[in-house]
Amino acid sequence: AAKDAGRDRVVVFDAEHRTGARQRFEVHAALRGAVERGEISVAYQPIVDLGTHRVTGLEALARWNRGGAPVSPSVFIPMAEDLGLIEHLGNQVARRATEDVQRWRAELYPDLVVSVNLSVRQLAVPGSVRALARLLDESGLAPTALRVEVTESALMADVAAGVERLDQLRELGVRIALDDFGTGYSSLALLRDLPVDVIKIDRSFAQRLPDETAMVAFIVDLARTIGATTVVEGVETPEQLAVLAPLGCDAVQGFLLGRPTSADAVPALLADGPAWPAS
Ligand code: C2E
Ligand code: MG
Ligand code: MG
Ligand code: MG
Repeated sequence: AAKDAGRDRVVVFDAEHRTGARQRFEVHAALRGAVERGEISVAYQPIVDLGTHRVTGLEALARWNRGGAPVSPSVFIPMAEDLGLIEHLGNQVARRATEDVQRWRAELYPDLVVSVNLSVRQLAVPGSVRALARLLDESGLAPTALRVEVTESALMADVAAGVERLDQLRELGVRIALDDFGTGYSSLALLRDLPVDVIKIDRSFAQRLPDETAMVAFIVDLARTIGATTVVEGVETPEQLAVLAPLGCDAVQGFLLGRPTSADAVPALLADGPAWPAS
């Protein structure tokens, strides 16, 4: 009987395993198709200056609707990396973002900057810098209006390649932002070796305010020491904003200031004037 049960378990496990494998295969095929057909869209989340209370930047975030159901980027971005689709996907996002922001700069807000996320796999290949340079050229967007966001963990995968690539981007005039700062283990060594213009303080800090006030103040000072500005991510409540304002951070991003929205909604955001929530 024990032997039978064991055999049953093996059969059950195998069936589940096969179902899982088939579902994964289907998702992979769907993502591949979506990227090939150019169906990855871009949402924009405002970045608000703490001095002027105005939207001065937008972060471009990839969006995938699989048959009407949105799939989270934290699911499909790693998948795109594994499948070798990330360069194609990343270039689609960057193309859309550079074109949109160039138009908004011309029509609405000349100082607007846009952030684009660069994954570890894109950072690894030399061609990614050339691709971005070409998109800047084709869109007419000033290189200084483009920020590339990279995470500490992406950089740790290959520090030498990362530093080389970021140096090349910086030579073009592109600005570098260190994303999700404070979640990795490498912060100080990276800050020493990297050309960093902006530090984006991970949202886990904002979410633990006021407990993490001293820590945020420390990171803001650290950023200032290396000549970088700061953005606090994940600001969701007026209370968090009130704690951050006196700390000297430069900008904030989060659901309180605005959720990621489609391109159609951006002109209204930019025309709105001060984006300050009533308090
Ligand atoms: P990220 O670059 O750190 O982007 C910020 C993420 O935080 C976004 O999630 C945004 O929707 C979310 N967020 C913003 N404000 C708040 C808030 O107040 N509360 C909470 N809980 N979340 C907030 P999203 O769009 O799901 O993207 C997740 C991650 O996927 C991004 O994190 C980025 O690492 C990656 N990603 C997104 N688009 C791209 C892309 O085009 N290329 C690459 N390589 N990665 C991307
Ligand atoms: Mg980012
Ligand atoms: Mg982030
Ligand atoms: Mg993140």
